[in-house]
Amino acid sequence: MAEEIKRKVSIRTCTGCGQERPRHELLRIVRTPEGQIVPDRTGKLPGRGAYLCPKRACVEQAIKRKRLAKALRNAVPEEVMMQVEQWLDG
Ligand SMILES: [Zn+2]
Repeated sequence: MAEEIKRKVSIRTCTGCGQERPRHELLRIVRTPEGQIVPDRTGKLPGRGAYLCPKRACVEQAIKRKRLAKALRNAVPEEVMMQVEQWLDG
């Protein structure tokens, strides 16, 4: 498939559904070196990142199954999840 050839595009795994996608198609959530969990719209924040498809189902799965918290090695505050949901609507 064409995707195989374009391996220069960095591929990340969605924390919700587990599918691999090009990084720029995914939402990124970061745990900063200070230990804060923040939605990263620019994709440039330093820290440990977790990725999600821009789909409500993936966000919900990632939270319900605690995959997001595991990926970030930290609980995800509710206000961060609200920001992510706004992100989806916007
Ligand atoms: Zn997904």
